[in-house]
Amino acid sequence: MLLSDKIIRPLLSPIPRVLLNSLFDCAIIGGGPAGLNAALVLGRARRSTVLFDNDNARNAVTQESHGFITPDGIRPKEFREIAHKDITKYPSVIYKEEKVTSIIKKDQLFEIATDNKDLYQSKTIIISTGLRDVLPDIENISTYYGKSLFNCPYCDGWEMRDKPLAVIIEEQTQGFHFIQTVFNWSKDLIVCTNGKPVLNPEQKRLILNKGIKIFENKITKFEGENGQMEKIIFENGDSIIRKGGFVLPQPIQASDFAKKLGCEYNSLGGILVDFYGRTSVPGVYAAGDASVFAPAQLIIAAADGLKAAVGVNRDLIQKEFLD
Ligand SMILES: Cc1cc2nc3c(=O)[nH]c(=O)nc-3n(C[C@H](O)[C@H](O)[C@H](O)COP(=O)(O)OP(=O)(O)OC[C@H]3O[C@@H](n4cnc5c(N)ncnc54)[C@H](O)[C@@H]3O)c2cc1C
Repeated sequence: MLLSDKIIRPLLSPIPRVLLNSLFDCAIIGGGPAGLNAALVLGRARRSTVLFDNDNARNAVTQESHGFITPDGIRPKEFREIAHKDITKYPSVIYKEEKVTSIIKKDQLFEIATDNKDLYQSKTIIISTGLRDVLPDIENISTYYGKSLFNCPYCDGWEMRDKPLAVIIEEQTQGFHFIQTVFNWSKDLIVCTNGKPVLNPEQKRLILNKGIKIFENKITKFEGENGQMEKIIFENGDSIIRKGGFVLPQPIQASDFAKKLGCEYNSLGGILVDFYGRTSVPGVYAAGDASVFAPAQLIIAAADGLKAAVGVNRDLIQKEFLD
């Protein structure tokens, strides 16, 4: 059973917008594992909840998800289908496949606009819009990302174990640790710095000591079929056979709603939250990669969604009891 979407008043604005009649207890922006789990918990807590998602998950590029219990190896699409089925059991939750375009705080309430030109009102919001990965500037890297080139050895290291792999790093702080980590899964390793001077002499000595070759030239492109890497081609004409690898992308926030609402950020670039997902702005909660930032894992995002939902419910209960 869905809540009514009846239109009650057009607003005076250059783009016609309509305010939908329900005042929700919570609007969740982003329906990945964080937002989905938050919706589940809020539904079970009998809270009227609207969950918005524009179906553009960070892990949509990958074929299987690993590293959490039941079921290991599930397709990301199937994960969402099961979650949506779970949520439909709770009549106070509605799902909107819409992109949220703006959120404004007005008199303690939030006005949420979507690309359908609809407006929703809610007492609280959970931002669970996740992160986006900015990949190194290499011609056809996105063809291979999520298929044979991954960002997280804990997620995909097992499937890539003992294969001839490349670690692509362009960043100093975590790069050396990343190489050591991938070495745990395959000893047949090379390091590519894609033209960037990221390794110091001592790091280079330690890497070479382990039999790992270092390629410091810029990568021109990858070769292979259907996203399965076969070869890496360098700008100086060198090439090397590799069956895949790991890369350190630059994660960025997928939305700037928290910034626009005035939320503080932590030192990693995640939205600053307390244990219950409360941000520095009353009524605004955040969950999943958007606040955790690292380690980015489905099970952590889902747990985080639960915590934010409990935070929302606790705060509304307190307020309602005292009113
Ligand atoms: C290639 C790759 C492979 C991975 N493999 C694994 C793995 O095997 N195991 C594992 O545990 N983790 C894996 N991860 C990490 C995992 O995908 C993330 O940690 C997890 O998806 C974070 O969940 P989330 O709910 O915070 O964000 P997301 O899953 O990114 O969901 C955010 C959602 O918000 C929506 N959204 C964003 N902006 C808006 C907007 N304006 N309006 C409406 N909706 C919006 C997006 O469409 C998206 O659906 C992988 C990541 C990548 C990149």
